[in-house]
Amino acid sequence: MPDAIKKVVIAGGGTAGWMTAALLNKVLGNSVTIELVESEQIGIVGVGEATIPPIQTFNRFLGIDEKAFLRETQGTIKLAIKFENWRKPGESYYHTFGAPGTTMGFCSFHHYWLKAKEAGLDKSFWDFDLNYLACQQGKFNKINTQNPLYDMPYAYHFDSALYGQFLRRFAEQGGVKRTEGIIEHVQQHPQSGFITGLQLTDGRQIEGDLFIDCTGLNGLLIRKTLGVNYEDWSHWLPADSAQAVPSERFDKTLPYTRSIAHSCGWQWRIPLTHRNGNGIVYSSQFTTDEQANETLLGNLDTEALGEPRTIRFNTGRTDQQWCKNVVAIGLSSGFLEPLESTSIHLIQSGIIRLMKMFPNQGISPAMVDMYNAESKDEFETIRDFIILHYHVNERDDSEFWRAMREMTIPDRLAQKIEAFKETAAIFNEQNDIFRDASWVQVMMGQGLSPRDYHAAVNAMDKQTLLSAMQQIQQAKMQPVAKLLGHDEFIERYTSA
Ligand SMILES: Cc1cc2nc3c(=O)[nH]c(=O)nc-3n(C[C@H](O)[C@H](O)[C@H](O)COP(=O)(O)OP(=O)(O)OC[C@H]3O[C@@H](n4cnc5c(N)ncnc54)[C@H](O)[C@@H]3O)c2cc1C
Repeated sequence: MPDAIKKVVIAGGGTAGWMTAALLNKVLGNSVTIELVESEQIGIVGVGEATIPPIQTFNRFLGIDEKAFLRETQGTIKLAIKFENWRKPGESYYHTFGAPGTTMGFCSFHHYWLKAKEAGLDKSFWDFDLNYLACQQGKFNKINTQNPLYDMPYAYHFDSALYGQFLRRFAEQGGVKRTEGIIEHVQQHPQSGFITGLQLTDGRQIEGDLFIDCTGLNGLLIRKTLGVNYEDWSHWLPADSAQAVPSERFDKTLPYTRSIAHSCGWQWRIPLTHRNGNGIVYSSQFTTDEQANETLLGNLDTEALGEPRTIRFNTGRTDQQWCKNVVAIGLSSGFLEPLESTSIHLIQSGIIRLMKMFPNQGISPAMVDMYNAESKDEFETIRDFIILHYHVNERDDSEFWRAMREMTIPDRLAQKIEAFKETAAIFNEQNDIFRDASWVQVMMGQGLSPRDYHAAVNAMDKQTLLSAMQQIQQAKMQPVAKLLGHDEFIERYTSA
């Protein structure tokens, strides 16, 4: 075990590698040497265009100018995901980043809304959400106000390959050394098994004290070298393939991702400023590549810019994300399909966790255990959230959707669903990145309707409740008139 961490080696230069290099360098400065090795010949996975709001914190911490970032990554604004045909064909709902309603008392807004519905309210849950109202009109603007009713949390759509390159410049300017080459052999200490160095095909050796595995689905250090077990979740999430294809830019870009369910799987549609990102996710157990290809190409809004590229994956995670002196970040640490755009977020939270627990005088086994326990919890809560979308469905048009509905789900998720159906309560896990509002939107959007609501709601009489609802809805509508068309916003903002 190294005594002190003087040199960090990052294996891999995809989004994970460069995000890690940029943040480590920002936090640790020149107190450690950082070297990143990547191979242009191997390349990067090259997909992944939608994010969730915490990425803003990451960028801000690095001191990234949002306008330059949007310009250089061909970025657009994301307020929500619109789930089409997920509950059943012809129906859709939004999972927005906003929080419908506002704080009204002891419990979450949806309890009050449920009682108001019972009392005759004719507004949907989403009518109380500014993000939803903006999506409906394809609008956005940055609202400068302290009024929480006008909060409009957002994330981005961007080209993740360009984001990696953007961060590379940051990291290199800060002193990170980049080495081009293919890692052929990973050297280990004969007794401890700790990694001591990477040997490249041309014989160069890269030595280090701590190694970050960012080699993508390959998992070259964590899995192939250290042999850490991969926990397979394909019995819950059987999708194992995706086909991705860019298409021409749509005339008008919208500030949300579209996720469209088909009988064989689901399709994403992500608007960037120069093109659309499209792809289909499916399971080879239920669908052939040809069927998926036909569905994808038959459902593009604009002309395809090339042939679809097939990517295979296996949903699950490595049992440990930190083992000996290797920390796996990015796809090397596990894979969850991009339904809720969580992979880049998992990279971010992995790096932040590593920073919090960064070893100084040697690696503490207690710290490693803590890192692994937190990562496990985070991965599992996201996994459950994704399973929820599939499991609670009313589709009857294919064996795939019937199997999803009938499968046995993780106990914790089953409990969560039952509790919501019976009482409308959402039980949050500590490391869950999705808050009550997210769970409620997806649960109700997929067709769950609670039988009850919290008793605290009864403290408000029917008339007071209905008039409070009306006021909140009007307040939420107020800023909509001041928003700009999404394209107009992007153009004005990025050229300022
Ligand atoms: C179909 C699909 C859609 C996705 N959509 C989204 C999305 O919308 N939102 C989201 O957040 N995430 C999404 N993701 C995930 C996202 O693409 C990844 O999380 C992200 O790109 C990080 O990838 P990575 O850096 O871990 O791996 P990669 O991009 O594969 O990078 C691996 C790096 O390791 C290097 N490398 C590997 N082996 C060697 C070797 N032997 N020697 C030297 N170098 C080596 C490669 O050259 C490369 O630089 C999606 C993933 C897939 C598959």
